[in-house]
Amino acid sequence: MSENPLQLLVKTYEKVSNCIQTQLAQFIGLPNVPSSHNNGHHSFSLLSSSSSSSKNQPVTSMLIQHSELPKQEKSGGPVTKEELGRATWTFLHTLGAQYPDKPTRQQRKDVKELMAILSRMYPCSECADHFKEVLRSNPVQAGSQAELSQWLCHVHNIVNRSLNKPKFPCDRVDARWGKLDCEQRSCDLQGADKFWF
Ligand code: FAD
Repeated sequence: MSENPLQLLVKTYEKVSNCIQTQLAQFIGLPNVPSSHNNGHHSFSLLSSSSSSSKNQPVTSMLIQHSELPKQEKSGGPVTKEELGRATWTFLHTLGAQYPDKPTRQQRKDVKELMAILSRMYPCSECADHFKEVLRSNPVQAGSQAELSQWLCHVHNIVNRSLNKPKFPCDRVDARWGKLDCEQRSCDLQGADKFWF
């Protein structure tokens, strides 16, 4: 039996709807783009929506309302100097927290090299240049976990001061960063039983 005009209209709408969904998803970089129709029902799997009420919403409003969207857009685009800075400080202070109480000679050497490389390769040239100066007048202190985390706090405060940001109280650095939340301390860096001077 031939389809009635209303059925044809609905099918055409579904095709157009899926096509728009696919194009928009590719444009904004979302995964799980639907590759086919799903038996005549609107497919919102692209937006991984579990809400039944969402089935009646137009595709475009689903895209806008999806809770993951801002995160997806953010992670897809270029980062700002501030975001890069926060991410790098997170890495450095976490390294300070994870650093062994008794580091090996290699670990002490690696941290110094890491900072030197950071001052050359940090992907913000004005920051890198400033950090080079900071390192020159404040050589890396990496003799122990406490020493490294305090040194990091100190140099971060020098950067804070140059940006007119408040000074962070370094006696709070362990409380602020602490050890990495990792099951049974399996992420801890292993140090030496004794110092290798
Ligand atoms: P951030 O300074 O990024 O700090 C993140 C969090 O760390 C804070 O929220 C706070 O909880 C904690 N924190 C703050 N101070 C300390 C501290 N002393 N010890 C421990 N924890 C602390 N930006 C520029 O514009 N110019 C520069 O020259 C420049 N140089 C930089 C050099 C380096 C090596 C790095 C890693 C970043 C640099 N930045 C620079 C970025 C800048 O330091 C900030 O990261 C950015 O401005 C965002 O600041 P924020 O206020 O969000 O907090």
